[in-house]
Amino acid sequence: MANPTHRHTRTRRDKRRANWKGQTPTLVACPDCKEMKQPHRVCTHCGTYNGKKVLEVVSKES
Ligand SMILES: [Zn+2]
Repeated sequence: MANPTHRHTRTRRDKRRANWKGQTPTLVACPDCKEMKQPHRVCTHCGTYNGKKVLEVVSKES
């Protein structure tokens, strides 16, 4: 089986990982309730997609 010939140094490994960044998800306003939601996803606030209600949103009751 193919295996790496040499182990990479800590510096090389850490320099590679220094480029890892968290990404903020793209958000668009829901056309029905104007809440921010991810594009091409069902709105979690009102449960609509493409103008149709597809989910019954149950709010957490404490
Ligand atoms: Zn909505």
